[in-house]
Amino acid sequence: MNPAKNMITEKVDSLWVNVHLATMTETGPYGMVKDGAIAIGGGKIAWIGKGIDLPADFESQAAEVYDGQSGWVTPGLVDCHTHLVYGGSRAREFELRLQGATYEEIARQGGGIRSTVIATARRMIKSLLNQSIPRLLALMQEGVTTVEIKSGYGLDLETEIRMLRVARELGESYPVTVVPTYLGAHALPPEFEGRSDEYVDFVCNEVMPEVAAQHLAVAVDAFCEGIGFTHQQTERVFKTAKKLGLAVKLHAEQLSDLQGTALAARYGALSADHLEHVSQEGVKAMAASGTVAVLLPGAFYFLRETRLPPLDLLRRYSVPIALSTDCNPGSSPVTSLLLMLNMACTLFRMTPEEALAGVTRNGARALGLQNRIGTLEQGKDADFVIWDIAEPAELAYRVGFNPLKQVVRQGKLRPELS
Ligand SMILES: [Zn+2]
Repeated sequence: MNPAKNMITEKVDSLWVNVHLATMTETGPYGMVKDGAIAIGGGKIAWIGKGIDLPADFESQAAEVYDGQSGWVTPGLVDCHTHLVYGGSRAREFELRLQGATYEEIARQGGGIRSTVIATARRMIKSLLNQSIPRLLALMQEGVTTVEIKSGYGLDLETEIRMLRVARELGESYPVTVVPTYLGAHALPPEFEGRSDEYVDFVCNEVMPEVAAQHLAVAVDAFCEGIGFTHQQTERVFKTAKKLGLAVKLHAEQLSDLQGTALAARYGALSADHLEHVSQEGVKAMAASGTVAVLLPGAFYFLRETRLPPLDLLRRYSVPIALSTDCNPGSSPVTSLLLMLNMACTLFRMTPEEALAGVTRNGARALGLQNRIGTLEQGKDADFVIWDIAEPAELAYRVGFNPLKQVVRQGKLRPELS
């Protein structure tokens, strides 16, 4: 079939030629097309394929023709799990941990998440924006075109709303798609000490309806863990989210197995994230519900965890695996998605192709955006990155090196970031 016949737009605005394509579709390794070309129309991919098959009239139609100089093109990267809006820093806590305290001990002593909650609550929108912008820009410098941002350091109604507004404003101010998530059940605020069920009532009855009414989040997340919220409390959060028409996802099985993954799967969660302690039953449940496994090698590394996520089980049950920075001040102060590719390979033994799928195709799926982004296919958003690399595996292979040449977002060449 001649792909030109399937054009979804009559008009070609711009053309990229002399590029190699890692389309990340599931047709062979990396969905690879050597010596390829991409035609863009109306911000979408109007045509993609071998350069030699490029319809002759495209060049005359296109207002711009770009020579990719034999660079490799991948889909725009998707960072599907971040907490990048927050106030303060936890460098001091890092230091304490190196003096012997564990993550759980610090959390139980009112440190950890709570110290970020205090630092975040003190800050107004402008100050939170100013703190968050450099983190967002660092991700974008490495080709991120879609980023999920969670609330969860406000906990009270006003600060949670403020965090979600900051997330929205970041997406409006920069050429990046921000996908906001409400994470009220992240930590127990001190004023609810010993009354965690009442806090969950507050999350479900007061905050979530307001977040939904103002369209400030598309999904709801929770931290189902011994130092977080119980299985039952998490289920109440999910029930309310579903009633309000919000998607769900979960921080599950990071430090222990509370069977949060199976619960998330039962509620049709987009993703279950962390998963170092997930059981075979949990993995089976994810496979049945189509829930994406989001692995977070930055947190694994930073907390010096030793229990690996069960990669073989996830592969055996064909659970899609995404990767993310988990950018947060306490357990993963990471703003490099390329570094996560390398860590997923070195620490988790994922292949470079699996790792790249984790920040493209499967990252998109973890956000429910697989019909729009995540692979390079006709009809999808023209979000892609041109890299100065000799082969796609180089993106996961190198450490501390950024081979990004150019970024195209929604069909337009992204200007220099500042
Ligand atoms: Zn997280």
